[in-house]
Amino acid sequence: MATLTFAAARQMVLDRVAVPPTLTAETVWLTDAAGRINAFDVPCDRDMPPLARSLRDGFAVRSSDLGQSLRLAGEIRAGQMPQEALPERSAFAIMTGAILPPGADQIVMKEHGQVVGGCFQSDRPAQPREWISEAGSMARAGDIVIPRGKRMDAAAIGMLAAIGKTQVEVVRRPVVRILATGDEVVDIALKPNATQVRNSNSWALAAEVSRRGGRAEILPIAPDRLDITRDLIAYGLEADLLLISGGVSAGDYDFVEAALAELGAEFFFDRVLIQPGQPTVFGHARGTFFFGLPGNPLSTLVTFHLFATAALERLAGLPEPALFFHRAQLAAPYSHKPGLTRFLPGELSEDGRAVSVLPWQGSGDIPTLVRANCMVVIDAARPSWAAKDWIEVLLP
Ligand code: AMP
Ligand code: MG
Repeated sequence: MATLTFAAARQMVLDRVAVPPTLTAETVWLTDAAGRINAFDVPCDRDMPPLARSLRDGFAVRSSDLGQSLRLAGEIRAGQMPQEALPERSAFAIMTGAILPPGADQIVMKEHGQVVGGCFQSDRPAQPREWISEAGSMARAGDIVIPRGKRMDAAAIGMLAAIGKTQVEVVRRPVVRILATGDEVVDIALKPNATQVRNSNSWALAAEVSRRGGRAEILPIAPDRLDITRDLIAYGLEADLLLISGGVSAGDYDFVEAALAELGAEFFFDRVLIQPGQPTVFGHARGTFFFGLPGNPLSTLVTFHLFATAALERLAGLPEPALFFHRAQLAAPYSHKPGLTRFLPGELSEDGRAVSVLPWQGSGDIPTLVRANCMVVIDAARPSWAAKDWIEVLLP
């Protein structure tokens, strides 16, 4: 079947998984909206600002009057409507956010003016419209201020509050079923013997699913048997997206691909030139996309991040899923055998400039993953890096 490079595999996911043409919306309170995807274009309810306002504490003047001594003729506070136009050769004291009085066309900042004996003086040159926020300059009534498909962050929630919305319609979270496989994998409620491992993957994946906008459902663990694996996969395929961990390598008891094939799956790739995570599988069966992620905890999480998030975010209504890369200087030399793009647990310094590859014990090393705050991206084509060389880093 198909082996792809990292970039080609990621592109394959983006090419295959589109935002569904009809998405179900649900209404949530603003306090529950963070991270959710906006379902409908939201228009501004009025011009922002409704009237021209001062951007500074200072003095409202006619720009043509500057250069002479002006009479301090009044004061306008935030929240007050100016009661009169600015008289000739006068200034009004004005506060940040207060409405510009008719006649005034410049604000002089407080620190650039002085008031002596009821007279205002400033050496500011005439700069018409200086420090004025014009009516409608941020948005006009009816302008779309939060587009459909926007992930609700603090700014979007602040915007909703600014237009008086207490609730917002967001896209229903896609249901993501998670199936762990493996005879050695036991439920976390059980005490494993020395040959067994607890099912950490389902829980780690569920955390990522909810962080990326999905609703996770953890299925019972599939033993390494074709029939049970197939039945659990069939159930998993009734969700919006299926994630399977383990059972995708070339071992004699890796039944996931065979089970998927029995269910009529179409495979888009089943090997990617990366490490960890070479045997990652992506395909479609019974109307649902699935990922077969290698079972080692690091491989599972790395391949989820690299490929499955893009699918999940599209299904959640986000048109342009992105990975966030950064560049930093390597703390120590690094070399590898070219051919695979490697994603290694890394520690980015607090100022973001230096990064070190953490020593790790292979792709089962969850303790190291907990210490990592990024993945260092080792280019498949380049054999070595010196200390201080710039290198790409994948941010969480
Ligand atoms: P596999 O990809 O099925 O060959 O699994 C590789 C290794 O990953 C296994 O030997 C286990 O140690 C580990 N592993 C597999 N599934 C899980 C799981 N659900 N949780 C934690 N570790 C797992
Ligand atoms: Mg296995």
